Amino acid sequence: MDYRLIPAMFVADAPGLDFLNSVATPVDEPVDWISDGEGLLGWLEQAGMIPGDVLAAMRAQSTPAELDEVAAKARSLREWFRGYVQKRKGRALAVKDLRELEPLNQLLARDEQHGQIVANGPDGATALTFRMTRKWQSAESLLMPIAEALARLVSEEDFTHVKACEGPKCTLLFADHTRGHARRWCSMAVCGNRAKVAAHRARLKEAKG
Ligand SMILES: [Zn+2]
Repeated sequence: MDYRLIPAMFVADAPGLDFLNSVATPVDEPVDWISDGEGLLGWLEQAGMIPGDVLAAMRAQSTPAELDEVAAKARSLREWFRGYVQKRKGRALAVKDLRELEPLNQLLARDEQHGQIVANGPDGATALTFRMTRKWQSAESLLMPIAEALARLVSEEDFTHVKACEGPKCTLLFADHTRGHARRWCSMAVCGNRAKVAAHRARLKEAKG
């Protein structure tokens, strides 16, 4: 299904996992929100990973073919990282899990981040603030906020509570930050509700015997 028809899903409670969820089956057909360059720009915007002025500059300075190529790289990064997470979710990461992250570290080494002093908003306690920003020099730099989100996921998230939605056909992953860690569904509105309806039908059937 065309990704333009439906907004991307941000239900993971962790940006690195939201990125893995950029391909999903929200209704019946699979949707890949980063299936081309324009899709990648749109997803990054919806994820709040790229400022609006950068988005406009990227559109102006890159050819559609260049953007499509970056989207293809993002998709292979996504599927490689999905394998990494699938293999380890449900248990805390250990030092030995670092070795397989080498491709991600190589990508991070190409990042051009630097600090900048900028004016603080009207509600800020100080007039000026220090903030990290990037030299968005090529279309490829679009991969950098994603790489950062993946790096933060493996270094800040307790993988014990990284879960896959229990919906039978659902592929969505999330970080369970609920108290008691009892979250089972990507969202109550989608899979949670489906499960409730299925359980209700099963009970009715049983009652009718
Ligand atoms: Zn689900």
